[in-house]
Amino acid sequence: MIATPTKTPHTGQDYLPKKVTETTQLSPNQSLLPLTANINNHDHLEIGGCDLQTLVEQFASPLYILDETTLRTACHQYRDGFKTYYQGESQVIYASKAWSSLAVVGVIATENLGFDVVSGGELYTTQKALTQLGYSCQEIAQKIYFHGNNKSVAELEQALEMGCTIIVDNWLELQTLVQLGETIPNQKTPILIRLTPGIECHTHEYIRTGHLDSKFGFDPNQLETVFSYIAEQKSLDCRGLHAHIGSQIFERQPHQDLAGVLVEWLKIGQEYGLTLSELNIGGGLGIRYTEDDDPPSIEEWIKAASEAVMKACQRSGIPLPKLIAEPGRSLIGSACVTAYTVGSSKEIPDIRTYVAVDGGMSDNPRPITYQSSYSVVLGNKMSAEINETVTVAGKHCESGDIVIKDAQLPQTHPGDILVIMGTGAYNYSMASNYNRLPRPAAVLVNNGEANLILKRETYDDLIRQDCLPEKLLS
Ligand SMILES: *Cc1c(COP(=O)(O)O)cnc(C)c1O
Repeated sequence: MIATPTKTPHTGQDYLPKKVTETTQLSPNQSLLPLTANINNHDHLEIGGCDLQTLVEQFASPLYILDETTLRTACHQYRDGFKTYYQGESQVIYASKAWSSLAVVGVIATENLGFDVVSGGELYTTQKALTQLGYSCQEIAQKIYFHGNNKSVAELEQALEMGCTIIVDNWLELQTLVQLGETIPNQKTPILIRLTPGIECHTHEYIRTGHLDSKFGFDPNQLETVFSYIAEQKSLDCRGLHAHIGSQIFERQPHQDLAGVLVEWLKIGQEYGLTLSELNIGGGLGIRYTEDDDPPSIEEWIKAASEAVMKACQRSGIPLPKLIAEPGRSLIGSACVTAYTVGSSKEIPDIRTYVAVDGGMSDNPRPITYQSSYSVVLGNKMSAEINETVTVAGKHCESGDIVIKDAQLPQTHPGDILVIMGTGAYNYSMASNYNRLPRPAAVLVNNGEANLILKRETYDDLIRQDCLPEKLLS
């Protein structure tokens, strides 16, 4: 659906989304820039009809700029993909750890997706947003799936009170749920069982979760004991199985294999008398961060997974389960860019040139955490010739605080705007106040309008939770 670039970009123009035909929509996860990216007659990058330089003048930098069209397009493509390729019931739920905030929940909820949350805080955020949007308690409960390998008793109580589905990760949680559930008469707790399917995929070690040596989920050799235990519990309503095998995956095979493994276990669970009718295959589809990345489209991924589940069910002779996917990165990653302002630079002859920006590892910890790569354009001079290799550095007191090593850029000057692409997932949600930098603002852009969705933190926000013990004052 996207023309694979064959040459290195000469100007910022080469990063714009390239439509193959007028009628096919791009898959957001295959596009470096958001789908609405354009160059206006000031030679500035425009997203959602908003000039990026104007946004920086208005909201300051660093600034997260989230394109509503791209986010909604990814939601549609997941939903429509299931409708086209899966013959049973299906549901797409957003892995909100990628970016959890009221406005993000708001946009995605209006696209009829559900939400996966992994902590009391994400649960609270999602519940608050949905309540403000006017959803009933029952609708909210039906939309939320609660994950986590070490949910606290308080978090489990919070989930039970809400009535959302709990994805049970381990024995302690299972037993705690049974104890808590017995104190609530006439209520069955909807659960899914998470298992470690033993599937390897080629991605960074920290974001691989499906191989057997993983902290997540039940080991397969425990599952039959789990099934027979659950079959005895009146307070539990075990609806199905879940597995998530990793993130930023470009291959289709792992999820096809996963479908086979999960369907086998569904069948075994059913033999224990459990009505397992839901199959949650997790998320993990990758996005394009650099010209070299070549992920399958959302449609291709859904097609592969759907067909594998249908084939496995046919083979096992079981009815099609409700199929659930829970994408995070591929839903929101490509919908956002981060705009920084260029400051100082340092040229080390014959070694490299550093160009520093006004943020870094506090607003995007992925490069220092996972050695992740990103792409950049000069947002205020999109047609300038790309003729320099520089390292874009952050402003933190760490040598490792590098945004992009060996970035290809035109000549830059202090005050220029650097736009880093693909920052919608695991940027704001992993942001910190390291070096006491206030977290950036975020705007939602669409049709030439920019709405503030996260206020920039102030210095007062930084000391809000600080306490100065009385004894120090004397
Ligand atoms: C992180 C996570 C996801 C989403 O992963 P992406 O790679 O962002 O799509 C889905 N399910 C679970 C359980 C996760 O932990």
